[in-house]
Amino acid sequence: MAHPSKELTLVVFKPDAVQRGIIGEITARFERAGLKIVGAKMLQPSADHYYHHYETIGKLISRRGQKAFDSIANFMQSGPVIALVLEGVEAVGLVRKLTGATEPKAALPGTIRGDYAHTSFAHADKFDVGVPNLIHASSDPEEAKAEIAHWFSESEIFDYETAHDKFTQPLK
Ligand code: ADP
Repeated sequence: MAHPSKELTLVVFKPDAVQRGIIGEITARFERAGLKIVGAKMLQPSADHYYHHYETIGKLISRRGQKAFDSIANFMQSGPVIALVLEGVEAVGLVRKLTGATEPKAALPGTIRGDYAHTSFAHADKFDVGVPNLIHASSDPEEAKAEIAHWFSESEIFDYETAHDKFTQPLK
């Protein structure tokens, strides 16, 4: 379990990030910010798993439509992904900030999507593929809880002390 003053959040490296070989570079950005990796694994989930992730939890069909759901669900199943659970102070919002806007075209320089991707929804839609924007990151603490429970069992989440922990505890 996370320290009571800290949050857990889910990051999933999408097939484009895995196939481009930039997992290390992107993970380094999270580590550099002091976020702690408390869970990590590679997997290639089923259509059902992604339905639960994007629709049951993420309500993607009502937010963005059936076509967007179908294209991202297909894209995610096209290859293995790497899932991480990160822990830190207000980690959910921090990871979204580091990740940047959903559409790479709109993502600011300095963010992961802004620095490592550039395509648009319009371009992705022409080819009926989910926009390749490298990572999924939980959008709020409630969604993070549901997503982590969906992707990880309790025994796959680890509790250990890092050097950063020392500096984010209340001073004695
Ligand atoms: P986020 O991943 O930033 O939380 P959403 O949950 O709204 O964004 O969308 C989930 C994923 O679906 C996006 O990351 C993106 O890869 C894909 N997606 C969303 N809308 C579209 C679209 N109009 N065309 C192509 N792909 C889309």
